[in-house]
Amino acid sequence: MKIEQVSDSVHVVAGTNVNWALVSDGSGVTVIDAGYPGDTDDVLKSVREIGHQFDDIAAVLLTHAHLDHIGAIPTLVERFEVPIYTGPEEVRHAKRKYLQQISPAQMAARLLDARGRRWLAQTLRVVGRHLDVTIPTATTADEATLAALPGGIVAIPTPGHTDGHTAYLLPSEGVLFSGDTLITGHLLSAHTGLQLLPTFFNHNESGTRASAAALAAQPAHTLVPGHGSPVEYDPAELTALFGSATG
Ligand SMILES: [Zn+2]
Repeated sequence: MKIEQVSDSVHVVAGTNVNWALVSDGSGVTVIDAGYPGDTDDVLKSVREIGHQFDDIAAVLLTHAHLDHIGAIPTLVERFEVPIYTGPEEVRHAKRKYLQQISPAQMAARLLDARGRRWLAQTLRVVGRHLDVTIPTATTADEATLAALPGGIVAIPTPGHTDGHTAYLLPSEGVLFSGDTLITGHLLSAHTGLQLLPTFFNHNESGTRASAAALAAQPAHTLVPGHGSPVEYDPAELTALFGSATG
């Protein structure tokens, strides 16, 4: 686990090949995403390390219900009754009404090269026996509820990586939490910098690209991705990379 402060209120935590973020102020902590099941202790530890108590956790905002973003949620719900918010469509995914996640066959295909074998070994270690995590308490918060959370957050629907994928914006500090719509690095990618995840991770590739392009409209200059390092960026870079959102 590596904790990096990227603005007054935002700490980004690098867990096992995935990030979560802590948005904190005097009133408490908003947790954005929650690592792999194997990252659960580190999610808890990270809250303490930035000077807060577990009771300060006001909510988890979930970008999407993939296993590498929901790991600590069952513990946070059981031990501290933390509310879990995500987009309306992603609520159904979080409850596993359906599953839009890389299949075992697609995972096995990664065994063909060394980079993939490393990723697979690390992934299996932190997934453990927890393949079937669901979040029965997931709900969608209205605008006023999100605005009242520590930091004051706005939800941005970004369908593509999953149908209900939701990014988040901290308008007061220009920080964009892009989840897996837009990343800056991944064990399976040969380069770092603004990019999409490898295609097989995206439920809908063209939708992911369109949502990444549309993020150019958000008033932000600091990007906190689901994978890779946080970066300072110019929204115009997104248009150059992914085209204009309106086509
Ligand atoms: Zn994902």
